[in-house]
Amino acid sequence: EAALNRQEFFIEYQPQYDLSNARILGAEALIRWQSPERGRVSPGAFIPALEETGLIHEAGKFLIASVFAQLAAWREAGHRDLKVAINLSPRQIEGSPLPAILKEALAEHGIPPSAVELEVTESLLLSGKDTTRKALEEMERMGFSIALDDFGTGYSALSYLHNYPFHKVKIDRSFVTAMDTEPKGEPLVRGILNLSHDLGLVTVAEGIEESQQEAKLGEMGCRIGQGFKFCKPVDPAAFEALLAAEPEIGRD
Ligand code: C2E
Ligand code: MG
Ligand code: MG
Repeated sequence: EAALNRQEFFIEYQPQYDLSNARILGAEALIRWQSPERGRVSPGAFIPALEETGLIHEAGKFLIASVFAQLAAWREAGHRDLKVAINLSPRQIEGSPLPAILKEALAEHGIPPSAVELEVTESLLLSGKDTTRKALEEMERMGFSIALDDFGTGYSALSYLHNYPFHKVKIDRSFVTAMDTEPKGEPLVRGILNLSHDLGLVTVAEGIEESQQEAKLGEMGCRIGQGFKFCKPVDPAAFEALLAAEPEIGRD
């Protein structure tokens, strides 16, 4: 808890790539906790604890402040098209005035909402609360793009696509892995991609670790890829180095 004050939290960025030309489109911001006692603790372990204690709201504010400041600096440095995605946890959406917090952060840092993406996992939607849907709709109207994270791992994924204002679908890593390990893996991914594209959604594949996964996803028309094959989550300086190393062609 005091960890928030002691600056033990920081953010890493995992680049997202255009699968048609392998160029960086943006990054997903991932929170990290370096505990003096426990070392690196994974978000899967400490986020539920933050939610139970209500500290997720403080953590969320820290995340938004850090990411928006970072994004403003990158835009200042000329990366005007960069998109950064942040993850929102279930309690965060339900228990805090997120639209207001985000609005203030946009104004403070002079960032257009189109440069920010909000990721919500399917588990968030399991509660099926009307307030969640309304909050997402409000943020969508504000101009943020909304991504459905970990697609396929929840219980009624298809009805979510139908009822919520998503722009993007992030295909869960388990499906990407299954493409090479299970006979039904590839048709399943193809089906998800076709369905998503028919619905006008942009597709992102998570957890690409192998070249053949990248190749197959590209052939099947998946737009964006993210995973250790390209790059693990890195600190801001390392992400800047990746941007700097990109060929200039096609950039304004
Ligand atoms: P997520 O949003 O689905 O994030 C992707 C996770 O997959 C990250 O784990 C990332 O490090 C990992 N990953 C990326 N590429 C690969 C790959 O090729 N192979 C494998 N094996 N893993 C890969 P991480 O950072 O441990 O985060 C876990 C989850 O914790 C995230 O899943 C997200 O739901 C949550 N989370 C992370 N940061 C935040 C945050 O700032 N706020 C909230 N509310 N949740 C967060
Ligand atoms: Mg995510
Ligand atoms: Mg995910």
